[in-house]
Amino acid sequence: MSADPNCIFCKIVAGQIPALRVFEDDGTLAFLDIGPLAEGHMLVVPKEHYARVEDMPPDRMAALARHFPRFVRAVTRVTSAEGCNLLLNNERVAGQEVPHVHWHVIPRSAADGLGFRWKPTKYATGRGEVVQQLVKDALL
Ligand code: 5GP
Ligand code: ZN
Repeated sequence: MSADPNCIFCKIVAGQIPALRVFEDDGTLAFLDIGPLAEGHMLVVPKEHYARVEDMPPDRMAALARHFPRFVRAVTRVTSAEGCNLLLNNERVAGQEVPHVHWHVIPRSAADGLGFRWKPTKYATGRGEVVQQLVKDALL
């Protein structure tokens, strides 16, 4: 299994540094974030080192993602949350500080004050269709 000796999450996977682990199987580890945005804030990581989401083989992604319904059910129940955000920061420009791919599971409640920055824009006339075609072609 590939690991990066300089990676803090690889060290957590290997048990070289402590973490409050809540779940693991052959390929996936979930543990509590050391700086939680809310109680129960979890991180979910593949045990192998992949820096970014697009580095993950699809079967590893599927094996990890299948756990999300259970994780969300458990963490929202024990924290009495009303919902949660599943968040992945991909690359530094998007807020990724630890370059080992990880999902945040963040319990939310109406009174948590966290808010959500979401600033919708609009496509200029015809631009949506151009972007649609570009993405469709890139997926071929
Ligand atoms: P990112 O900004 O890369 O999406 O999120 C990195 C997250 O990892 C942060 O929320 C931060 O609190 C958490 N984190 C960083 N170092 C450690 C650590 O050593 N242990 C744990 N449990 N969480 C960490
Ligand atoms: Zn790593």
